[in-house]
Amino acid sequence: QKQIKLVRRPVGTPSKEDFEFAHVPVGEPEEGEVLVKTTYISVDPYLRGRMNDAKSYVAPFELDSVITSGVVGQVVQSKSPKFEKNDVVTGSLGWQEYSVAKESEIRKIDTKLAPASAYLSVLGMTGLTAYFGLLDIGKPQEGETVVVSGAAGAVGSVVGQIAKVKGAHVVGIAGSDEKIAYLKKELGFDAAINYKTEDVGTALRNTCPDGIDVYFENVGGEIGEAVLPLLNKFARIPVCGAISAYNNKEADKGLRVQGYLIKTSALMQGFTVGDYASGFKEGSQALAGWYQEGKIQYEETVTEGFDQTIEAFLDLFQGANLGKAIVKVSEI
Ligand code: NDP
Repeated sequence: QKQIKLVRRPVGTPSKEDFEFAHVPVGEPEEGEVLVKTTYISVDPYLRGRMNDAKSYVAPFELDSVITSGVVGQVVQSKSPKFEKNDVVTGSLGWQEYSVAKESEIRKIDTKLAPASAYLSVLGMTGLTAYFGLLDIGKPQEGETVVVSGAAGAVGSVVGQIAKVKGAHVVGIAGSDEKIAYLKKELGFDAAINYKTEDVGTALRNTCPDGIDVYFENVGGEIGEAVLPLLNKFARIPVCGAISAYNNKEADKGLRVQGYLIKTSALMQGFTVGDYASGFKEGSQALAGWYQEGKIQYEETVTEGFDQTIEAFLDLFQGANLGKAIVKVSEI
């Protein structure tokens, strides 16, 4: 079978040469383990951080080791009483065609409720990130204005829809006219701004006449900064990510937000989805409920074929994905 390893730490924007395909034997499960055939692989911006040799909330990838991320797959051989052949499961597994997984590393998913790939997006890690970051830190109230950047991506698109469920005025920021149309027409955002063709500060003033109460930060940089002058008293800023800086070769020169935060008593709080691990069950149930009621939709950009996994990851930094970026490796 094929697998993908990190062979060089990317400097700046990652390139194909940072990765290598290897051919390795398919493993044999031992007691308490199962053999999983990979169906879908999740490619995510946060993986860029794990490619650096720097301490963070998740350990860095080791060089010459297989990359891991969210995977959906099917059990082909089980030596665990908890799983049977053909069960569809998800867990953090390798970028490879087959994985031997400990029973504690995976969980069964219900493909009657939603397609299997949804467990890598709206019903999985990115949906939970949106749910907890927005509701626990952002706390949107009816009639408030919520702005979200990276709005047409996996996290951002769910943030905006949950904010709509809560009765907020929702404005998204994203990088193409197609994404803007999708946010307004399909997802019911009140307004959306194309940061590549519009002046974000001006567009925010026009679309947020009552100021901004919640800014869900996914991208950082100039977009994050354009939001600050419009913050209302006691605004909340869940700081989820800063993709615009992930490929910077030099560290940021320092925050320039303090003045705004002090003036408005705004709350800016970092978080990782793992902080909410004890609430995942509740979060998944709420998301599944909204999904079933048609209040939350999801979109995915599926790249076909294991050999395209690296391209699919690199494409994230070009904004090629609408909704969740996923690689399809095999049929269920
Ligand atoms: P997305 O599906 O949003 O994909 C990434 C998107 O980022 C692209 O489609 C692109 O859309 C946008 N983008 C790329 N480069 C830039 C740039 N220079 N400036 C502005 N936008 C850019 O990915 P996710 O939903 O998985 O992740 C969104 C954010 O949330 C990331 O920052 C990620 O690291 C973070 N995250 C944090 C977690 C946590 O626990 N704190 C967990 C999961 C994700 P466009 O066309 O709009 O440019």
